[in-house]
Amino acid sequence: MNHIYLIALGSNRPTSRDGPPRKVLQAAADVLTDVGLLFHDLSDIIETPPMGPSQRRYANAVAIVETKRDPESLLALFKGVEQIFGARRGQRWGARTLDLDIILWDGGVWDSPMLTIPHAAFRERAFVLGPAGQIAADWRDPITGLSVRHLHARLTRSKPAPRGASAPGCRNSSRNMRNP
Ligand code: ADP
Ligand code: MG
Repeated sequence: MNHIYLIALGSNRPTSRDGPPRKVLQAAADVLTDVGLLFHDLSDIIETPPMGPSQRRYANAVAIVETKRDPESLLALFKGVEQIFGARRGQRWGARTLDLDIILWDGGVWDSPMLTIPHAAFRERAFVLGPAGQIAADWRDPITGLSVRHLHARLTRSKPAPRGASAPGCRNSSRNMRNP
């Protein structure tokens, strides 16, 4: 049986082969297609100017893909593809060529030591919810029961933080690339 997933792609490091982060994401989508993922939809790639000490430009996008793989198998594939692109882990503000995350799937909740679906941080990440609103606005989070559209509105409507503090979902306070 095939499954439908909402996945997130992120990059904050150019490569000599692919170019800037947005090109890295396009190359990653090509690789994922080559290994058998069927892309139903790909959001616009959003680019975020550098924030925090890393001074790096981020590119983020989400996609709806179809595959026979179960979540653990898809995660294993993602880790392999991240390695191909030279992912470097363990640096809080360091370069990360490619980050592939599973946000939602059509099977509801998945919770294992290596994998949590829905992705634990996606409700606080505007760079996931924004692009997801383009292609999966009506998809419901099985935990809160709220749609992607609703989650995005809730996040962007949240009160601005006091001066000098980091806003929720801001890259200064909530990394899109968690420390392993
Ligand atoms: P982030 O989740 O912020 O992208 P990382 O990419 O560093 O952070 O992920 C660290 C670990 O999180 C991965 O090795 C993986 O085992 C685990 N993980 C748990 N849930 C998920 C998920 N839904 N998608 C991707 N990785 C996940
Ligand atoms: Mg990840």
